[in-house]
Amino acid sequence: MKTELIGMSLTELEDFLEAMGEKRFRGRQVYRWIYRNRVRSFAEMTDLPRGIREELAKIACLTLPCILQERISEDGTRKLLLQLKDRKTIEMVIIPHQVTGGTRYTACISSQVGCPVRCLFCAPGASGFERNLEVYEIVGQALLGLQWGISNVVFMGMGEPLLNYQAVLQTVGLLIDHQGINIGQRHITISTAGEARGIRWLAREGLQVTLAVSLHSARDELRDVLVPLNRKYPLAVLREALNFYQGKTRRRVTLEYVLLDKVNTGWEDAQALIRFTRGLLVNVNLIPYNEVECGEYRCPQREVIDRFKMWLTRAGVNVTLREEKGADIEAACGQLKTKKVNGGQQENTRQR
Ligand code: SF4
Repeated sequence: MKTELIGMSLTELEDFLEAMGEKRFRGRQVYRWIYRNRVRSFAEMTDLPRGIREELAKIACLTLPCILQERISEDGTRKLLLQLKDRKTIEMVIIPHQVTGGTRYTACISSQVGCPVRCLFCAPGASGFERNLEVYEIVGQALLGLQWGISNVVFMGMGEPLLNYQAVLQTVGLLIDHQGINIGQRHITISTAGEARGIRWLAREGLQVTLAVSLHSARDELRDVLVPLNRKYPLAVLREALNFYQGKTRRRVTLEYVLLDKVNTGWEDAQALIRFTRGLLVNVNLIPYNEVECGEYRCPQREVIDRFKMWLTRAGVNVTLREEKGADIEAACGQLKTKKVNGGQQENTRQR
């Protein structure tokens, strides 16, 4: 079987070329071709002698996820259905943002096929977990996204990134390397459902990426139901991990809060959330729920959303209300979902 070179670090590529009997600097050349110039074949690596290119083509490969389907929203959001080598499918979304002087693009990428966390309102969670993605499958999504000029990457697609910790960290290392892909650390967000052990590990990495926590409730009895990971790491444990993280990184954390009508938008929910944020450096991102077919939850009326936001703001909490993107192609938050494609193969997709 051929060795996959996408996903390898500079040192791994140097080792690989050395094991082929070549000088180590050839590994650096290959690294640049893969991550900086983003070529798709060894034949395009024109500063390598032909013999090395031919040998590489025999023993190694450069595999990116295959785009099976592409949908583009009226607002420019692009949803890609990607197929992996073992024919499993994942989704990534490319989201445009208007900024002064032009448009920026964010890639929302997946870290697992399915998800073991099983959040109640999330389709991949409901359909179960299949496997972790390999580094080449995660960084491959970003390499695809670079075709559309992405400058930001969020790990908010399918899966719990901190449960595929090593692969996600290795991917972040490749994304931020100045000699390679070169995305600024502050342009990368890792989103977790509250994997407290992983948050503590991340705190010690010395990174400047943004951490987002899908909180959705600050009441244990409700969060136990909405985000079952809460039974393993209750709010007090999660809060301690966030304290630890902020002590190490001094970085503001985003708390994602999906607004579910008559579920988590009452006065007591707001008060619990206010108590949870006290003493933490956080921004609360309110996300009106996207109603999906067959979903039992509803999006609150605008006045309920505004009232909830007002309660938090009056208590001095930093709050933002997420702008909807890609709702018409089911790429908006909570709309990635399980459906049948390609003769019955499961497509499991989501976006936090
Ligand atoms: S919301 Fe995230 S963590 Fe929860 S089941 Fe879905 S993908 Fe997994």
